[in-house]
Amino acid sequence: MRPLLQARLVNDVFGDPALFMDFLDERRALLFDLGDITVLMPRELMRVSHVFVTHAHMDHFSGFDHLLRVLLGRKPSIALYGGPGFLAQVGHKLRAYTWNVVHRYDMELVVEATELALDGHLRSARFSSRDRFAGVTGATTEQTDDIVHDETTFRVRAGFVDHGIPCLSYLVEEKVRLGINKARLEASGMTKGAWLRELKHAVLTGVPPDTPMLVQWRDRSGDRAVTRTVGELSRLILDAEPGQRIGYATDLRDTSDNMQALSNLMQGVDQLFIESVFLDEDRAHALRKNHLTAAQAGRIARCIGARAVTPFHFSPRYRSRAAELAGEVRAAWEHP
Ligand SMILES: [Zn+2]
Ligand SMILES: [Zn+2]
Repeated sequence: MRPLLQARLVNDVFGDPALFMDFLDERRALLFDLGDITVLMPRELMRVSHVFVTHAHMDHFSGFDHLLRVLLGRKPSIALYGGPGFLAQVGHKLRAYTWNVVHRYDMELVVEATELALDGHLRSARFSSRDRFAGVTGATTEQTDDIVHDETTFRVRAGFVDHGIPCLSYLVEEKVRLGINKARLEASGMTKGAWLRELKHAVLTGVPPDTPMLVQWRDRSGDRAVTRTVGELSRLILDAEPGQRIGYATDLRDTSDNMQALSNLMQGVDQLFIESVFLDEDRAHALRKNHLTAAQAGRIARCIGARAVTPFHFSPRYRSRAAELAGEVRAAWEHP
């Protein structure tokens, strides 16, 4: 069963950290962190609807300009999330340019920014190209649980970790995963076809169950078609399973509070992307730099019960030793 979301690192393990999360069968994607993202094709960046920034160190935020440049005049809106000070940081980035013609572009670009405060409040601001990105303060809301963004098919949660400064870790969870029950499909007399994908999409996006759907397929007796409701079809053919959960944790120190924060946010995560900046022999240096060693990352992955681990954000000082870093993560994750 293919998952709704497919996550991959944007750069190699020595490059700026960023995670690109593509939706299956939708022209849409999520992006985590905004460092150097120039390897993403413009058409990939155009798919991005929401960007979740962990913190505004340059290797995580300098790609804002590139994103803005690709989207300007081509895409109507983009939503950005970040930690304390984020609204001001987005505002400053936008004010750094001269906008004397942008309000005349046919397509307006609206940057919707949301800042997560340490006290659990979400503050928002809206920057429109129509008024030269002057910025309008929006609503302040109280965060429910640790949810920062919620849709029909998935939600995004966030938690703070300590990186010398507050830094966000993110968890994306698909709400449900739909499988096709082959035995029941066979018994129904219908066969596979494009209608199955449409049906899954209808269920995932919350289409009312009494909505009629035309099912077309072809078998030995030729072209066949019936009309059934989405609800009937889904009861007949689909099995619901818990959706996959993907964690993104980068830029943090090895402390028990950070361990606890990640454990609260992403216990039992299916796929964990975690920074592994230094080798464990350099752990004193890692602590000074507010980063994890590979062994520490592996231990965190084991403690939170991650089913799969992808390390990244390797220090360039280990240019020729990437395998050692990856090996250290794996060893600590697999063997206590
Ligand atoms: Zn970093
Ligand atoms: Zn950092």
